[in-house]
Amino acid sequence: MSVIGIDFGNESCYIAVAKAGGIETIANDYSLRGTPSCVAFSPKNRILGVAAKNQMVTNMKNTVFGFKRLLGRKFSDPYVQKELKHFPFKVEPRPDGGIGIRVNYLGEDNVFSPEQITAMLFTKLRESAAIALQTPINDCVISVPSYFTNAERNSLLDAAAIAGLNVLRLMNETTATALAYGIYKQDLPAPEEKSRNVVFVDFGHASLQVAACAFNKGKLRILATSSDPSCGGRDIDSALADYFCQDFMTRYKLDPKKNQRAYLRLMQEVEKLKKQMSANSTRLPLNIECFMEERDVSGEMQRAQMEQICTETFTHVERTLRNILHNAKLRPEDICAVEIVGGSSRIPAVKGLIEQVFGKIPSTTLNQDEAVSRGCALQCAMLSPAVRVREFNVTDVQPYAVRLAWDAARGEDGDMEVFPPFHAAPFSKMLTFYRREPFSVSAYYSDQVPYPDTFIGQWNIKDVQPTPEGESQKVKLKVRVNIHGIITVASASLVEKKQDSQTDNVEMENSNENVPNPTGQETPMDTNGSQENQQNGPDNQEEGADDKKDKSKEKKKVIVKTIELPIDSRTHGYSQTEVNSFSEQEGKMQAQDRQEKERADARNALEEYVYELRGKLSDGEVLHDFIAEDQRSRLVAHLDSLEQWLYDEGEDQNRQVYSDKLAELRTEGEPIKQRRLEFELRPGALDDFALSI
Ligand code: ATP
Ligand code: MG
Repeated sequence: MSVIGIDFGNESCYIAVAKAGGIETIANDYSLRGTPSCVAFSPKNRILGVAAKNQMVTNMKNTVFGFKRLLGRKFSDPYVQKELKHFPFKVEPRPDGGIGIRVNYLGEDNVFSPEQITAMLFTKLRESAAIALQTPINDCVISVPSYFTNAERNSLLDAAAIAGLNVLRLMNETTATALAYGIYKQDLPAPEEKSRNVVFVDFGHASLQVAACAFNKGKLRILATSSDPSCGGRDIDSALADYFCQDFMTRYKLDPKKNQRAYLRLMQEVEKLKKQMSANSTRLPLNIECFMEERDVSGEMQRAQMEQICTETFTHVERTLRNILHNAKLRPEDICAVEIVGGSSRIPAVKGLIEQVFGKIPSTTLNQDEAVSRGCALQCAMLSPAVRVREFNVTDVQPYAVRLAWDAARGEDGDMEVFPPFHAAPFSKMLTFYRREPFSVSAYYSDQVPYPDTFIGQWNIKDVQPTPEGESQKVKLKVRVNIHGIITVASASLVEKKQDSQTDNVEMENSNENVPNPTGQETPMDTNGSQENQQNGPDNQEEGADDKKDKSKEKKKVIVKTIELPIDSRTHGYSQTEVNSFSEQEGKMQAQDRQEKERADARNALEEYVYELRGKLSDGEVLHDFIAEDQRSRLVAHLDSLEQWLYDEGEDQNRQVYSDKLAELRTEGEPIKQRRLEFELRPGALDDFALSI
């Protein structure tokens, strides 16, 4: 069993595997380490990864990209509406308000959700890993932007489930980077010493993420994060493309914005130019042949000019960099190093801003493209029994304030903050309610969250009844940020009091445990939200909280009894039935792809044999003299007609037709080859042969 880490990027994905000897990056079917996050559709099959990107310009309407940022969002979301402007493919609202991507697949219109498209990409990654490692892949850790909300995280988990992946953890991208950095550092301060603070900056394709991390021997603790979910390398591409659109309008009277294909080509060319500008400050050319109206265009740019055109992006970068100091309550002098990863961190202006804000030259200790996937693979190894790695404790944070609201017990609604921003994660808190009847609580993000929808979930706690005396019951809810960074009500339990002389003890226990409620109303209270950083792995962490509860239960054994209550919940993501049905559909599409591949392989095998045999039968070639001349010309004519057939009606036959034709052809071709072989093996044959020529 292999353990892998997947960096699911907006532009490209990386897969790393943890082995006894260390972490390795897995190359794909094109021997490339990065696989484009690109999925395309054709009349015969799906085209995934590198192949999909390669055919993008000629199959624009059916080539889907940029879908990472559509996960978990509604069609009406302003962010989605803005994204749509960049897509040459069709996106539409689904009946439930979700996003539908309409493509032509197998000659028919099909609408897929962003989760399904993501699952298709995951299927490809899974297959690449399985081929490279010669073993089936199930367990994995997948990276996720630190700013992703419950809706997006659930959506990503659904995508993985559709692809048949078992996700041991959704790991924040900057945390994965921090782990990949920390685990190899031999000189970290001892646990009791002052920790070493390192800032990680990941500037990718669609977003910028920053995390401040405190390291000690054997552990890391994320202090805070800051991010700009809509500031990435692609914004620079867009700004440069806008500039050249203007330029071409003036000089050539051509408007690339009116021609999607031309615009897409322009985007590809300005991206190349941007990368060259990172390494070169002189004037650089941009040339595109046969751009529009069969005309060639050319332009030029210099780094300084690019920096001016992109000031808005760089202002956002600077703001996000400064925010980390504020969020983590650190001064630049408290920070030991700033490590940069992500493709866009190669831009000199970004490095300059980092130096300006932190007073340090950014370090590039890590592989800028592969650090996230490597961190994920390390985490996967730690969570899986399959591979042993050095233990390294990871304490993450969840970035937004989370509030819990509850319905009226006696006419009063209420709400409270359960997790402040940058609270440690994973983490569980116990909240106590006094209720006589079933009730519901809902969780939502505070207004600072950069999403129109702040809803997290609603949980209906069932089977609550008054005590025989008609009193309220004590109900404890466990509210948890789980290992994926998803906020949930993990359990609800009824704490039954025994009506005996020890009742006083119970009350005592209660007041010790509970934060007194200042208004005297029935409000939930934080009773177990220990603020200390729990030291074990994420699983243990939560068990730690549970242990504590169990111990207190033991102490109170004679006086309390706990009964688990059923909960009905409404959160984001698909139901199990929906996941199963998408999974089945994915399985069928895979079977279709496989069948198409076998068909194409059978056609290629026939085509190859035709060419090979005809070549060898021609004048002066190796098989020419091993068949009678009249038979030879008949066979060559047959081969010519087969070639013709392959390009006509034989272009699109099923596999059997090709393999039958190949088998038939081989009955003629193989005996000729055999005769030559026997001739060659005869003693002195080659001398005879030499004499004969
Ligand atoms: P994200 O992290 O936003 O989901 P990603 O992980 O796919 O996306 P990366 O692979 O880290 O993104 O970065 C891709 C971006 O980096 C692209 O916009 C690309 O143009 C840019 N990039 C790569 N190399 C360079 C370079 N040398 N100079 C400037 N930009 C570069
Ligand atoms: Mg990335």
